[in-house]
Amino acid sequence: MQGQHWFFAPPEDWREDSVLLPPDESHHATRVLRIEPLSVITVFDGQGKVARCALGSSDGDRVSAEVLEATDHPKMRPQMVVYQAAAKAGKLDQTIERLAELGVAEVWAFDSERAVARWDAGKVERLTHRWDSIARSAAKQSRNPHLLRAGAGLSWTELTRRISNEPMALTLWEEASLPMRAALNDGADRVALVVGPEGGFTQAEAESLADAGAPLVSLGPRILRTENAAVVACSALLFNFGLIG
Ligand code: SAM
Repeated sequence: MQGQHWFFAPPEDWREDSVLLPPDESHHATRVLRIEPLSVITVFDGQGKVARCALGSSDGDRVSAEVLEATDHPKMRPQMVVYQAAAKAGKLDQTIERLAELGVAEVWAFDSERAVARWDAGKVERLTHRWDSIARSAAKQSRNPHLLRAGAGLSWTELTRRISNEPMALTLWEEASLPMRAALNDGADRVALVVGPEGGFTQAEAESLADAGAPLVSLGPRILRTENAAVVACSALLFNFGLIG
């Protein structure tokens, strides 16, 4: 049985038959959880590798672990990607956590006309760092072998360029008549969703997204908060593709 506690170690900290936990993970294992040497733990690299390990000895602020058995887990199919309009930062922290638990692969925040939040480069860097930490905690808690990648600061031009390169992209728009379900095809390998800000997309933005290849789809008659819309839509995608429930 795999160790009940999961710890993260980036790919560069793995050797043939051992892995060195980062300082914060080492502290959590030895000081907070007080796990004894030789106890079995689970270590994952965030890119699909999950290993049953025996905790070793500490070397300074890091502890090693012997790899007993490692397995590689393929990425979830279809991959889910969320392009999320900037919102009050605390709101999106929870969104990142919930999407990471659902197995979403990527979240990219972008600027839009009616967004309440305006983020400068320093804010973008702080947010990205915080979201990486949230994604790692959510992966450990939900036992997801793949880390969600998150970033912020996409311009509208960058957003539409990325969308035009997505194999399947949908714009969540509360004024759309087409149900999201009707726009899906079962063979999708990757599905990208675009979510507007607290104030919603302007008509021009909605048309720009549709022109970029992300048709406008509805999640139904109720208006969802910007921080909830992606979570609801991704849950529906998981159910539609038989990945949950
Ligand atoms: N126009 C909304 C209003 O009247 O309150 C404001 C936008 S809504 C709070 C935030 C975003 O969530 C929207 O831009 C859209 O992307 C998504 N959204 C919310 N409810 C939706 C629905 N029923 N169908 C599709 N998208 C929805």
